[in-house]
Formats: sequence, structure tokens, C-alpha cells
Amino acid sequence: MSRKAILEALSAAEGFLSGEDLSRRLGISRSAIWKHIVALRQEGYAIDAHTRLGYKLRSRSAYLLPEEVEPLLKTKRFGRHYHFYASLPSTNRTAKELARQGAPEGTVVLAEEQTEGRGRLGRGWYSPPGLGIYFTMILRPTVPLGLAPQVTLLTSVAVCKALETVAGVQPQIKWPNDVLLNGKKFCGTLTELNAEMEAVNYLVVGTGINVNQSAGDFPDAVAAVATSVHATTGEKVDRARLLAAVLYFFEADYDYWLASGFDRLRAEWLERAAGMGTTVRVIAGQQEWVGKAEDIDSDGALLVRDSGGKLRRLISGEVSLRPEGGQGYDFGR
Ligand code: ATP
Repeated sequence: MSRKAILEALSAAEGFLSGEDLSRRLGISRSAIWKHIVALRQEGYAIDAHTRLGYKLRSRSAYLLPEEVEPLLKTKRFGRHYHFYASLPSTNRTAKELARQGAPEGTVVLAEEQTEGRGRLGRGWYSPPGLGIYFTMILRPTVPLGLAPQVTLLTSVAVCKALETVAGVQPQIKWPNDVLLNGKKFCGTLTELNAEMEAVNYLVVGTGINVNQSAGDFPDAVAAVATSVHATTGEKVDRARLLAAVLYFFEADYDYWLASGFDRLRAEWLERAAGMGTTVRVIAGQQEWVGKAEDIDSDGALLVRDSGGKLRRLISGEVSLRPEGGQGYDFGR
């Protein structure tokens, strides 16, 4: 608490604030103040210390610390319980533990890096420190099990809206969970479910967004398919602002979905869909076939017409799509 109070006092001060002044205001010793200053510096705050004048905040931390994110939130619930970690194996894993312990809906778990970040089907999600946003939201929707995958689609729409607002770009969504800029992936979502009988107990929705990576920052394994906001626009993006915007749009759409269902959101998803009306290769385990992606239905399942003319319904989770005849994820916008 004292650390937060010191930060607030330094933020409000015009110039230097003496150690004596701070210690009087907060009722703690000058050496305790110094320990907090050292800790704040480790968290990325640039604080000048001068023997006679005291302390001055030169610049704020670029980390997605609660102190940096909270003032930007426009939500009621999402991000109001916020767990920040410098590094985690996987934000979904920690979120599941917190959800098991009863963490409320809207809880956010965020890590500056993930060492074992995961995508769907056991794949990895490359999550280098400081450049992206890696976070998981805990949800407790009272909906039938079958509707849970729609949350992944809602998340993709919220990421698009946030990018449209904060970075002025128009991303596209590749069913079910990837968000693309110029045909390359900069965001993926992994939704995991805990249910009892036919009811959802909780969902954890983990999203990784490549924000400030340069094109050369991606490892060879993903370089051909991956991009970031910065690599697309040439601009650096304020990650805290972007995160706050994603949470804002998600909360609004999620509450709408709980109250009124998927219809409007389906339309908003389709407005941003990549590859609709194009020929795609469907990969489901050992099986592969080619068809035309036509639509998503009222549940969010993808409808693909196979070569025999039959419309087949694909449920997210077990299926990957590739543009047939194209390269990488390029749906040729
Ligand atoms: P697809 O359906 O295209 O096969 P997916 O949607 O199942 O992929 P995800 O689970 O979203 O894939 O993400 C994992 C895959 O994304 C990895 O196999 C890798 O190719 C790619 N990838 C990993 N890290 C990143 C990253 N930071 N940015 C973009 N792509 C990445």
C-alpha cells in the first residue's frame, strides 16, 4: 500500500519531493521509503534520487502493472481483479487455479512473458517479454455447454474493435480463433472450459496479442505466418491502452451476449471474417478435405460446402483451416 501511495505522491508532485516530506506524509521511516523506491525502480519506474532534494518521478513503468492499467479501465468487472506477473509458464494455467479457488468473473491474469504459452491442439504460443499482451479472463456464464465456444468468437471481435479504435487498423478474423492483419496472425485465443453436467462452471479465455514486435523479432518457426501491430503500422502502441480497450469492448459484448444471445455478434464477427466464400483446406486430425467456407451458423460453427455439395458444420476445437492454393494464412485481402 505504501508503495502505491509513494507512486501517487510522486506522480502528483511538480518537482522533487523530499524523503522527509514523504516519510511524514506516509508515517513510515526514510529507509522504508528508500526500499520502496528501489522496488519501484525494479518495476520499471524511472525515479531520480538526490541527496538534498529528494525524489522525482521521471517516467512511468512500461510494464502492464495494476497501477498502469487500472486508471485506464472503463469496465465494471473486467480487469477489476487483476493479477500481474512478470513471468508465468501460462496465464491460462494460473487462471484455472484462481478460478478453482473461486476468483470472480472478470478476473484478469496477465504476464509480461509466458515461458510455456499455449495455442490450440497443444501448440505453442511464442510470448516474449514486454512486446505483447498475454492475458486470461475468467468467465462464469450461466449458459448451456454448447454455447461456450461463442466466447472465443466474441473475444476476436473485441480485439478487432480495440485495434480499430486504438491503432486505426482493420483486422480480420480467421475462424475460429485467429486475428489477422494483412493476412498474417497477430492474435490467438485459447478458451478452456470447466463444466459440471450440462452447465458451465467456469471458462478461462487466454489471448496473446503481438503488439510491438518488429518483423525480425519472430522466430523462424512462425515468421512466415506471424505479424504484430507495430510490424503492420510502423507505430508503437501503448499496450496498457490497448488492453483496457479490449476489456472494455469484451465486457460490453459479453454482457449483451448473456442478455440477448449471439445474433448481433454473429453479424459483427462476419463483417470482419477472413476467407468467407473462399476455398479452404480443412484439417481435422488425420483427415483433410477441401471445401468452400460459406458462413457461420447461429451457434458460431463454421459451414463449409464439400466437393459433393454437402454443407458440413465444423465446431471449433478440433479443426484447423488453411487457405487452399494460398500461402501461410494469407487470405488475400
Ligand atoms: P491454425 O488453425 O491456423 O492451424 P491455430 O489457430 O490452431 O492455428 P493457435 O492455437 O491459435 O493456432 O496458435 C498456435 C500456432 O500459432 C502455432 O502452431 C504457431 O504456428 C503460431 N504461433 C505461435 N506463436 C505465435 C505468435 N506469437 N504469433 C503468431 N503466431 C504464433
